[in-house]
Amino acid sequence: MTSMPDLIRKKRDGGALTGEEIRTFIRCVTDGTIEECQTGAMLMAIWQKGMVQEEIQALTREMMSSGEVMSWPDEWAGLVVDKHSTGGVGDKVSLVLAPALAACGCKVPMISGRGLAHTGGTLDKLESIPGFQVDQPTSKILEILHSVGCCIVGQTESLVPADGVLYARRDVTSTVDSPPLIAGSIISKKGAESLNALVLDVKFGRGALCKDLDSARELAQLLVSVGKGLDMPTAAVLSRMDSVIGRFVGNSLEVMESLETLKGRGPADLMELVTTLGGVLLQMTGMASDELDGRRQIFDAVNGGAALAKFQAMMEAQGVASETTLMLCSAHADYHTVLGKSQPQMELETLADGVVVDVCGLTLAKVLNELGAGRSTADGPINHSVGAELLVSLGQRVSKGESWLRLQYESPPPSPDQISRLQSALAVEECGNYEVKALVVEVLLP
Ligand code: URA
Repeated sequence: MTSMPDLIRKKRDGGALTGEEIRTFIRCVTDGTIEECQTGAMLMAIWQKGMVQEEIQALTREMMSSGEVMSWPDEWAGLVVDKHSTGGVGDKVSLVLAPALAACGCKVPMISGRGLAHTGGTLDKLESIPGFQVDQPTSKILEILHSVGCCIVGQTESLVPADGVLYARRDVTSTVDSPPLIAGSIISKKGAESLNALVLDVKFGRGALCKDLDSARELAQLLVSVGKGLDMPTAAVLSRMDSVIGRFVGNSLEVMESLETLKGRGPADLMELVTTLGGVLLQMTGMASDELDGRRQIFDAVNGGAALAKFQAMMEAQGVASETTLMLCSAHADYHTVLGKSQPQMELETLADGVVVDVCGLTLAKVLNELGAGRSTADGPINHSVGAELLVSLGQRVSKGESWLRLQYESPPPSPDQISRLQSALAVEECGNYEVKALVVEVLLP
């Protein structure tokens, strides 16, 4: 058998690994016989030299098969769907879309991730709800899909364990933004869900892993083809990610904004993503006559309260006490009696009169992560209460001294440098003109 240093050298020197070599690498990652530094070295070699399509397909298949591949009752044929995003700032779409799809009759066994680089993770957000258990055995996933229709869980020892290891290592070795590693990570999780339809939200812009539309389109095409290689009908939506989705960033604040959205009071940009991604999925399953009909069904499920009822049932099924779910889902919930809120708060003020022409989501996310909203080590803690609320919108006219950002922090407090970086995230122009653009730019159907 080839040794691990030989495999790393082969990739480092630009060679293409065989299916057998990729199997060896993933087996050693899964059974823990690889040394951590070897995992980091291989990730960096893949980041630098890339992989050809056959390698990416083999990597994805081996990662998927590192654990159980789920199977579903015959009567669910055609109904099992999911969505996954390449990651953004304030991206809480999954929290609204999974229950909305369930309300429309789909089965959604969503395996999500934690924060990666500066982007937030759905699991971290859900864990800000006291009692929410993201680790669930597959027998329980099946039970929840029977009773509720959707669940949001993490990979475990038995579900895509290889992604659990690689995901955490990528985050601390600066190897997140690698197309083969993104494809392996996302499509292996979705392959283990044995889906009938998958839609991917491939984001581009400063706050995304892909910085421009062309690289996002290339990644989307790769993801769609790797999904197809697993016989999983896969579509992709290309969407802008420059600022913040919605008005809140930070784990518990984003749960709060998701609940508000499920009560029909959500921001337009978040609803645009939820209805578009859901519409594409309903069209793919044949549950909607076309994307427009699909979008309307999702919109009605959210605004009519059916998706909120599914979210409440999902929270209970995943361990949250019923009094807590009742409180969170009531029309006039006092969220902070349940969700963490940091006491120290600070409002940043605009430094000039004019029109808001830009808010840099990347800068906000990086500073919030430094303040504890994200991890600095693979298994490190995060502070769910740390976050920020945007008090202005793009295109809005503001006066000098008006508050534009409410920051929630604990310890450490923001340093003068962090405050000045946050201030630099806001661009105000005296005679500025801002045209609000739709987030969704393109849809690639399978
Ligand atoms: N989401 C994932 O699960 N993996 C990635 O690599 C990026 C986003």
